Amino acid sequence: MAFLKVAKSGTLSLNEKSRALADAGRKVYRFGFGESPFPPPRRVQAALRSAAHRTDYTAVAGMPVLREKVAAFHHEADGYPIEPRQVLIAPGTKPLLYNVMRAFQRAVVYVPAPAWVSYEPQARLAGHQVVRIPTTFEGRWRVKPVDLERAILRQGAGDRQKLMVLNYPGNPDGLTYSYEELQALTAVLRRHGVWVIADEIYALLDHRGRHVSLARLYPERTIVTTGLSKWCGAGGWRLGTLILPPDAPSALHDALIGLGSETYSCAPAPIQVAAQSAYELDAELHDFLAAQRRILRAIGSAVHRALVEAGIRAHAPQGGFYLLLDFSPFSKLLAERGIRSDSQLCDRLLADTGVALLPGEAFGMPAGSFTARLAYVDFDGAAALRDAERIEATVIEHAAKMLEGLAALREWLS
Ligand code: PLP
Repeated sequence: MAFLKVAKSGTLSLNEKSRALADAGRKVYRFGFGESPFPPPRRVQAALRSAAHRTDYTAVAGMPVLREKVAAFHHEADGYPIEPRQVLIAPGTKPLLYNVMRAFQRAVVYVPAPAWVSYEPQARLAGHQVVRIPTTFEGRWRVKPVDLERAILRQGAGDRQKLMVLNYPGNPDGLTYSYEELQALTAVLRRHGVWVIADEIYALLDHRGRHVSLARLYPERTIVTTGLSKWCGAGGWRLGTLILPPDAPSALHDALIGLGSETYSCAPAPIQVAAQSAYELDAELHDFLAAQRRILRAIGSAVHRALVEAGIRAHAPQGGFYLLLDFSPFSKLLAERGIRSDSQLCDRLLADTGVALLPGEAFGMPAGSFTARLAYVDFDGAAALRDAERIEATVIEHAAKMLEGLAALREWLS
């Protein structure tokens, strides 16, 4: 009997591995799994409780009132007009990303290296050809327009459609694109008629609140995905949103509805009710977002400082809660210890120190790049929110466990 070969997503298996170590009584520094540490606002939790009786199936596209709220919310947050008909709701961003890939027939999918773990497997499951666009530490892991264009021209997509995935603030790099960088990329995308999935799931966690949506610059072919998983601290609730271009072909819209109807049917009704409360961009929500940004900025800087002091190369984070570490200054030491790949590095680190990182390979980096992703979320998000006004002064306390883990990492490298 033959079955489809699909490996479990790298992020999820590391989470299970470190949980097993912790269950066995080992101290584990959980830098591996990118789960928000912050609880959803109380009013959103209350809305979910009050909706427990909602057992109905909703429309595949989501509740009309929620689609209206999402459109108004992102119009205000991102500064471009959105009609409710452009919005789709689903149980998480992941199925939306997959269904977008699936909705394209025979495409070349351009994926930066590094990029989030699931884009490439999803593109392959959808039957597409994947072309990686390499980036460098020196280039701040940004896709350069010239490299994008070279990849497009070299590939010669033939009659295949062209689709690119662009995620910023980024997982695994924690960096974003400036308006000018996006403009330069847009010129190439437009010249070659490339469709883009702009995965803006960390947009509201841009540490300075300055995210620029690609849909503002390239409205005709940008499909924006986001949802409650990161900025609302509700990953396990499973609520994702998608914003289609205003003039998207009806065939694309219909394909997404068809795929949704044959797979997930709809996002859970109680979660959609709770989401209506989350997508209310009032003063309370602005404060909640500002507090998260301030905390992530303070903790991200403290973690970055500790890494640089340990001799590891990393760029100061700009958004979300990740850092991409470059251990190449230690390549000689690692070789002496028989470590030849990112995965071996992460396995040994976890076994020797309890520090759980995810290897760069999982994000499409070459195995010998000695890169790994660190998620700085191993802190009490509720306590940090209570202390948000003075987080800069108390960051050492809030990040104590992570700083202890980084001290162990430093010791291991010395
Ligand atoms: N896109 C990126 C860049 C992510 O980091 C994640 C989750 O880790 C997702 C998408 C998936 O989000 P969801 O939990 O809404 O499916």
